[in-house]
Amino acid sequence: MQVPRLELRNLTRRFGGRNVVEDVTLSVAPGQVTCLLGPSGCGKSTTLRIVAGVDRQDSGVVLVDGVPVSDGRHHTPPEARGIGLMFQDFALFPHLSVADNIAFGLTGTKADKARRVAELLERVNLLTFGEKYPHELSGGEQQRVALARALAPRPRVMLMDEPFSGLDERLRDGIRDATLDLLKEAGTAVLLVTHEPDEAMRMADEIALMRAGRVVQQGAPYNIYNNPADLAAAAFFSDVN
Ligand code: ADP
Ligand code: MG
Repeated sequence: MQVPRLELRNLTRRFGGRNVVEDVTLSVAPGQVTCLLGPSGCGKSTTLRIVAGVDRQDSGVVLVDGVPVSDGRHHTPPEARGIGLMFQDFALFPHLSVADNIAFGLTGTKADKARRVAELLERVNLLTFGEKYPHELSGGEQQRVALARALAPRPRVMLMDEPFSGLDERLRDGIRDATLDLLKEAGTAVLLVTHEPDEAMRMADEIALMRAGRVVQQGAPYNIYNNPADLAAAAFFSDVN
């Protein structure tokens, strides 16, 4: 069997004696989107923060391409994990141009960086925007710059925490689809966090339904939608249209 690009084994995180993340196990293949779906407060962001390396689990292991990046003893620093991040707050650097924002995490010669930036600007349809500054861009354009920046170092894994929720609803579906296309094309394994069932249905190859820190059901979107594990899962999906 193929080694998963990203694997979470029995992750548990306690805050104040309470298991906020409890025994979470899942894996994501290259080019696959797995969605952590569940109501606010169920532990989605905490799980993502542990995978990113900005928080540490109390037990369990995170592996990238079969290699532990975080276990009880060793914790690879966030920047060395081959993981890209995208959050609701795009967090572009306001004092840097679009091109410099995208180049920020890149290494190599100036010419290498310029080539990669141009390639990404084209991929996100912002070819003429390189010299502009973030405040001159719409929310949707800023989101595309954030995506280009996250993809620039060719991460093996992309973590996305409600990345579309700050966007105008009219733009959202188009940006979701364009984002998916780029991530699929790059073969990136994606762990996407959302509390919106319709976003999960639209974007996920696999959904891990979370409640109170645990994954209560896992499977293909339509299997979960058509065959929810219990009443609470059914109720959670009932507002999908
Ligand atoms: P979600 O992203 O699903 O909305 P979170 O992972 O942000 O949920 O939070 C899960 C639970 O853990 C919440 O009850 C939250 O208050 C708690 N929590 C998160 N971070 C901390 C922290 N640093 N200290 C104490 N409690 C925390
Ligand atoms: Mg959250």
